[in-house]
Parts: sequence; C-alpha cells; structure tokens
Amino acid sequence: MAVLIDGKELAKKIRMELKDEVTELRAKEINPKLAVIMVGDDKASKVYVKNKSKACEEIGIEYEEFLMDSNTTMQELLDLIENLNNREDIHGILLQSPIPKNLDINQAFNKIDFRKDVDGFHPINVGKLSIGEDCFISCTPFGVTKMLEEYNIDVQGKNVVIIGRSNIVGKPLIQCMLKKNGTVTVCHSKTQNIKEITKNADILIAALGKAKFVTADMVKEGAVIIDVGINRNDDGKLVGDVDFENVKEKASYITPVPGGVGPMTIAMLMTNVVKAAKNLNK
Ligand code: NAP
Repeated sequence: MAVLIDGKELAKKIRMELKDEVTELRAKEINPKLAVIMVGDDKASKVYVKNKSKACEEIGIEYEEFLMDSNTTMQELLDLIENLNNREDIHGILLQSPIPKNLDINQAFNKIDFRKDVDGFHPINVGKLSIGEDCFISCTPFGVTKMLEEYNIDVQGKNVVIIGRSNIVGKPLIQCMLKKNGTVTVCHSKTQNIKEITKNADILIAALGKAKFVTADMVKEGAVIIDVGINRNDDGKLVGDVDFENVKEKASYITPVPGGVGPMTIAMLMTNVVKAAKNLNK
C-alpha cells in the first residue's frame, strides 16, 4: 500500500513559510503584488482565479483582478499587459486561460515582461529552463518537482515516464526531471504500446486529462505515481488520470486527486510572485 503524498498539507506548509517571508519583505517596504487578467466568462477559470486570490490574501500578497469581456480585441489585451508591465507596484502578471478563441494567447504570453511572468510561459523563461538557468518555472511542473523533493524521492538514474506533452505541464516537466538526472520518456496521444513503456517507470507522471487512464496493470510494483489530471466523472466528482484505488495497492508513493498536485500548483504560483517581487527590488 502506497504512501500518500499529501499535496494539501505540503502546500499549506509552503504558504505559511511564504507568509513569514512576505511579512519580512513588507517591513522593508516591498509589497509583493499579483495582477490577474481574465478575458471572457469561463466558469472553471472563475473558480481557479478565486482560489488564487484567496491564497494571496492568506499570505499577504496584494492582488488586483482585471476582468475583460469576451469582445475584447487583441490590441486592448496587449495594451493592458503593457500597462501592467510598466507598473512598479505589480510584480507578477498572470493571464488566466482559456481566453476567447479569436485572441492569440501565445502573443499575449509573449507580451508579458518575462521578469513578471510568474506562470513561466514566456519563451525566455521556457528557454532558460531548458538551458538550466534561473527562471520562473511553470507552476504545476514546479509543484511536482517540489513534492518529490519534500518526500525525498530521488530522481537521479530513475526511469521517469511522463504521459502528456503540453507546453504548460508535460514539456516543462521533461526539463525538471532531466535536471534531476532522471532518464525521461514522454508519451502522448500517438504513442504506441503505452503500457509497455509505463510498466518500466520508476516514477510515472500522468498529465493527459483522461479519467482513470492509468490502471494497475500499467504500473510497476513499487513505482512512484504522480497524478496531475483533473477530470470530472459522471457524478460530477473530481478524479485524476490514475485509477487511484487499484494503483495505490501497487505503488510506493501516490498523489491523490483532489488534494495532490492541485494545491501545489497554487503554492508554487505564490512562490513565484514572492520571487518576482524580490528580483525586481534587487
Ligand atoms: P492538454 O494540453 O490537453 O495536453 C494533454 C496531453 O496528453 C497531450 O500532450 C496529449 O497528446 C496527451 N494525451 C491525450 N490523450 C492521450 C492518450 N490517450 N494517451 C497518451 N497521451 C494522451 O492538457 P494539460 O493542460 O497538459 O493538462 C493535462 C491534465 O492536467 C488535465 O486534466 C488538466 O486539467 C490537468 N491540469 C492540472 C493542473 C493542476 O494544478 N493539478 C494544472 C494544469 C493541468 P498530444 O500532444 O499528442 O495531443
């Protein structure tokens, strides 16, 4: 039976440490501040944004929200980002996705000053990550890496299999795991015989967005299982990409959904905002 990697507890610990750090910064008149831009009316985004604002409030990070309607033009969005880039009181800028389809999200991410890019999506941060320079790391891969560190799970020399190759999760995870000297294999929707690959994983990270995709027969005895997926089953309950009940019997460590990677993602966003505030005030 696997040890549960408790992302909720770990995230709480990180938030408490950040709270102390923010108190110290405020005493030096550095007031970390996050700006969040939301375009359109996506319901799930509203929940995510609310959770981020709650975390800011708890830690003492200032927070300002910019709500734009779904008719917003690309130029209006770029002008807002430009304005936030120039504001000295703002240290982190986050553009909540998705945005309406007629707008180019990559153009918007590229417009964010890379020193305020607390989501780690700007090409400069992506490039710095790949060459091992200090940068902002996309919050979910950063959270996964932190979880492994906190549970003393050594990645060096291990077979790490990542399912999913998105720009925000799978691809930055490749770099994070390579940096820790893992031997990394990436699976995606065109991968054949996926089970033959996952069965060799010492550390298996599922980030594909398909409920209970990873079943016990795909997992090696004693493997570490990290479940990034967030899906809703037919009853509306949140479930991960891993068949938790059966896989936990075979794994050595496993993350639950909810209460695993999700809370860590927000904690790492907060970490990045504090880092941005410190960097910009150097
Ligand atoms: P995404 O952009 O849709 O990417 C999904 C990836 O999975 C793609 O690379 C896709 O392959 C691959 N894939 C899809 N079906 C597959 C299959 N049957 N076999 C193997 N690979 C398959 O998703 P994402 O944004 O990376 O998110 C992935 C999941 O993580 C979602 O459930 C999302 O809600 C969740 N998520 C959670 C957090 C958190 O904080 N916990 C944060 C972000 C995302 P192709 O490239 O070939 O299409």
